[in-house]
Amino acid sequence: MLVAQRVNDFITGLRPDAVCDRCLCEAMSFNSHAHAAQITGALGTTSDFDRRQGQCSLCKNERTVIRANRT
Ligand SMILES: [Zn+2]
Repeated sequence: MLVAQRVNDFITGLRPDAVCDRCLCEAMSFNSHAHAAQITGALGTTSDFDRRQGQCSLCKNERTVIRANRT
């Protein structure tokens, strides 16, 4: 399965909660944070996802998070 599809499924599964790049990176076992940020950055440009400053539902930190929009 494509990495982007796995990330897509993970974020959609957490809906309506948001997740930060760091937690996503750990959940997906990415070896680079930049890789996770690259994918969420790309997803954030689509209408299916909302990427903004907010609280991560997993680590509870305020940082850039991404959430899936209601379909
Ligand atoms: Zn987090």
